[in-house]
Amino acid sequence: MPTLKKPLQAAPGRKMKRTPQRLAIFDYLDGNKKHPSAEEIYRSVSRTYQSMSFATVYNTLKALTGKGMLRELTIDPDRKRYDPDTSPHHHFICLQCRKIVDVHSILTVETPREIARDHLVVGTHVEFTGLCPSCKKRKKMQ
Ligand SMILES: [Zn+2]
Ligand SMILES: [Zn+2]
Repeated sequence: MPTLKKPLQAAPGRKMKRTPQRLAIFDYLDGNKKHPSAEEIYRSVSRTYQSMSFATVYNTLKALTGKGMLRELTIDPDRKRYDPDTSPHHHFICLQCRKIVDVHSILTVETPREIARDHLVVGTHVEFTGLCPSCKKRKKMQ
């Protein structure tokens, strides 16, 4: 399974410089299951690196996404969210608290014939929306 730190260390030819600020961002993301937004990453990392700017965080996220080391999610309509787990999986978002959880079940989604005819499909992403367990419970109590 690809992780953020390993390919960086294993491939010295990679064009991404390992600045302390970037490493702080990698550390924050490595194994992170919360699908954080750029703002959340910035808020956490800038606690340690006070000189860190939001632009640095944002540009690093863009670069990592471009290199296929990070997945950008558009499931949250308010902001982009980032997932260091680039293995194929789906997502559930809670409409109340915007928590995103991974859906690792293998779903067989058949490509519609009108797409399969002349398109090259390289991936499928299924989005589930609803309420997480704690928001579901709160709703019942109202
Ligand atoms: Zn929720
Ligand atoms: Zn995920």
